[in-house]
Amino acid sequence: MRFKGDGFLQDCIPLPRESIGLYEDAAGGSTVLDEEDCMRRFVFTALLAALCSPALLAAPVASKTRPIRVLILDGQSAGPYHDWRLTTAVLKKELEDTGLFRVSVATSPRFGEDFSGFKPEFGSYQVIVSNIDAPDWPSDEKAQFEQFVESGGGLVVVHGADNTFPDWPAFNQMTGVGGWRDRSEKAGPIWYFKDGGLVPDDSAGPAGSHGLRLPFQVVTRSPEHPIMRGLPRVWMHAADELYATLRGPGKDMTVLATAHSDPKNKGTDRAEPSMVALKYGKGRVFHTMMGHDVAALSCVGFMTTFQRGTEWAATGRVTQRVPADFPSAETVKFRVDIAEMDPAFVKGPTTTNSFDGLADAALVAMRRRADELKIEGVAIVAYFEGDTIQSWSSKMAVVGKMKTLPVQEKKGSNLLAIAYSKASEMADTLKDSGSNVRPPMTGEFGWSGGVIVRGKKGFLIAAFSGGKSEDDVKVSRAGVAELKTGL
Ligand code: ZN
Repeated sequence: MRFKGDGFLQDCIPLPRESIGLYEDAAGGSTVLDEEDCMRRFVFTALLAALCSPALLAAPVASKTRPIRVLILDGQSAGPYHDWRLTTAVLKKELEDTGLFRVSVATSPRFGEDFSGFKPEFGSYQVIVSNIDAPDWPSDEKAQFEQFVESGGGLVVVHGADNTFPDWPAFNQMTGVGGWRDRSEKAGPIWYFKDGGLVPDDSAGPAGSHGLRLPFQVVTRSPEHPIMRGLPRVWMHAADELYATLRGPGKDMTVLATAHSDPKNKGTDRAEPSMVALKYGKGRVFHTMMGHDVAALSCVGFMTTFQRGTEWAATGRVTQRVPADFPSAETVKFRVDIAEMDPAFVKGPTTTNSFDGLADAALVAMRRRADELKIEGVAIVAYFEGDTIQSWSSKMAVVGKMKTLPVQEKKGSNLLAIAYSKASEMADTLKDSGSNVRPPMTGEFGWSGGVIVRGKKGFLIAAFSGGKSEDDVKVSRAGVAELKTGL
């Protein structure tokens, strides 16, 4: 039921009115928050007010339920591929859109810089959302952060934030697992999902890996956990990095969901944790491995689990309903208003209409075809608009090897150069490479193994070098077929 009339109960509804229709319970009802929830919140709010400082008590009594106070932490990443300025803005919007949270941002100096002006009052917040990937922090900040979670503060760790602080044991205990930044078996075992639970793999080696960014299915493993309750058992996440081979202590860690890491996309063939929940002292931690960029963050599945995970980390409960447009097992669902926050977003019916997303998929298709044909080499895909080439977008992947080594009779081949020569010939002739429409010019070889087709607005090119000509053509066909699905 929806509450009518004025006063507290109506204000208790945590969502903007216009989005209420999007939120349904499992039975299809439109309940947003039940009476019991509201009363509990009322009691909680009253209790909180009684415990608050005199300054707060002196303030006028708010008629609305007090929002959950969130601090997003950012300020550094290991590389430009994690654009924290952009992703913090998205995370903030996603939380604020629920009407449940009041969000502040603390931007940390880079490690090694002056921290004297950086004194976030962790204690003023109920939950910290970490969107920072730094090598280390000064000991004062670390001690305060530990104290915050230890004494019951919530923590949410998003994607690359689990790369951070490799040598800070308490932080690694909070996140359970992490990757990169020179982590090795010393950081703990690799954790993966098998036979209904997380299994440690004690073998030696680095931590952290992922393939190309493609959509992948997420499988719920703890359906009764408050964050997961009511979500489908399987849903399709938008194109994202699928983290694998993460290492860590894995203490008090509950796996909420996993994703299969595809060996055809540099994967482990294992069910890798994609969301986990942990306890640290009295604190709750929600750790999602998803969310590389704005496109991934715009996925309704990511957004919902992030909003619910943040509420759970802060309060131990989840009052938010599952949105009606939650992704199914086969279909990506994303929010255009979020995706548009990335200046690189190409407007269209799906994000995969942009060359980048399709190029990743095309290179994976070419890799698969090359594997089937048992050949290695270099794959490239390219796209240009119009009838003649002025500029193109292209992507390349080494599939096994980039060159053949010299032997007595042969000087060896630079397969990358040959693949681009094929593409160059096609860009000029608009025919498949090796079509013999004219004698090869300098820089071309006239070899087959590249395919060009006309798309909706321009030309799509795929070329492979490394196998026999007819096999190179087969691999290239797999690439253009994938590009053609959206261009
Ligand atoms: Zn990433």
